[in-house]
Order: sequence, then C-alpha cells, then structure tokens
Amino acid sequence: MQSKRTTGTSLGDQAREDRGQRAFLEKRREYNRRYMRAWRADPAHQALDRDNRDRSNYERKLRDARIDRIPYTNERGERVCGLCRRQAPVTEIVRLQVCDCAPQGYVEIRIPYCGEC
Ligand SMILES: [Zn+2]
Repeated sequence: MQSKRTTGTSLGDQAREDRGQRAFLEKRREYNRRYMRAWRADPAHQALDRDNRDRSNYERKLRDARIDRIPYTNERGERVCGLCRRQAPVTEIVRLQVCDCAPQGYVEIRIPYCGEC
C-alpha cells in the first residue's frame, strides 16, 4: 500500500504563517516609520542629514563627471534599477528629492526600479 507523503504543514498552516509574516513586516515598517519621523524632527539630525546629503550629492556629481555615463545605466550602457544599480528595471517609482530652490523644499523625481530590492 502506498502512503501519502506530507510536508508537515497544511495549506491552512501556510496561510496563517504568511499572514503572521505580513503582520510582522507591517508592524516593523510602522515602527521604523515612527522612529524615522521622530529622528527627522530633531534639528541636530536635520543638520546632520543636510550635511550628508550635500556631501553625497557633491561626490556623485564628481563621480558622474569623471565617468561621463548616462544616469541609471551600468558600465555596459544597459539601463539598471536606480536603487540597487544591479537588476534591470521593470517600472519607475517617484521619489522626493530635497531641493532648497523648490517652493515646497523638494521636487519629485522618477527613477527606474527593478521591483525587488
Ligand atoms: Zn533594484
């Protein structure tokens, strides 16, 4: 007689596990959101953030000027994700970029996104 093999978890267990995982991720994201909101509200952290952003923008401009590459492309000229800079993009996402010259203090930029990182 042939016995039925089981994996040890039923579909109900799997669904419950997925829901638990999603709830855990959502709880962690909410905590991170609240933490970063509080962190950014501190003027000392705002100054630190501005200094880091200015230095990072300066370094990126220098690097881009040396390489003479089209933005969001790799060394072979292929379009890549604007976040991980490795995978091919499948969509574009909108991000806010701090800009002191904009009336609201930021501008919307569209960057290619792989959908996985
Ligand atoms: Zn990516």
